[in-house]
Amino acid sequence: MPAAMPGPLVGLLSAVALAIGIAYNHASSQGMRRTFSLKERYRLLAETDELTRLANRRKLLRELEVAVAASRDVPGHFIMLDIDNFKEINDRHGHQVGDAVLIATAREISQLDPALQGGRLGGEEFGLLIRGQDEVRVRTVLGTLQARLAAAAPLGITFSAGVMRLEPDGSLSDLLRRADESLYRTKRQGKDQAVWSS
Ligand code: GH3
Ligand code: MG
Ligand code: MG
Repeated sequence: MPAAMPGPLVGLLSAVALAIGIAYNHASSQGMRRTFSLKERYRLLAETDELTRLANRRKLLRELEVAVAASRDVPGHFIMLDIDNFKEINDRHGHQVGDAVLIATAREISQLDPALQGGRLGGEEFGLLIRGQDEVRVRTVLGTLQARLAAAAPLGITFSAGVMRLEPDGSLSDLLRRADESLYRTKRQGKDQAVWSS
């Protein structure tokens, strides 16, 4: 039969076991937090356009798909916009100035309206998703952006835009095709304007 341990030793061992338990718990919850924040960082990276820090195409189109599906209850609009004569900006002033124009455009887009989700669709093309059926709000967004970019230093920037109302029965690819057609029409009509698709 084992001899009984002296009381102080039992107390000491219990305290050590408790301390080890607390330290282990602390380390494992720190590890979990680190894993979570790493995952969060990867998710953000996968959804963010590297140059402009706006949502990238994949993220914006996913948001748009959700918005289209919900548009019977929550109406919305989608604006596809394309900077005018951007190749000329690159050719005349260099690629770095072109990049700065894209960054400035993105900054203005992100400061436009709290109900707006902006993203870079690719190149000098951006998408703006606006929740709500208020057409005046959409026109205000376009007018504000137009004024701010025209005043942007050192180059005035103009853009063309195709504007669509979200239709709950339409598919995402159909919406993108129609937005693209509207945009193409604005370019043919002389750029620096928006065409609304019926
Ligand atoms: P339009 O008025 O008809 O829209 O003509 P545009 O010159 O704006 O359009 P175009 O499609 O002819 O040229 C777009 C250019 O954008 C070509 C490409 O090299 C440039 N570009 C695409 N991505 C980037 C980028 O990330 N940075 C820079 N600086 N240029 C880019
Ligand atoms: Mg383009
Ligand atoms: Mg362009």
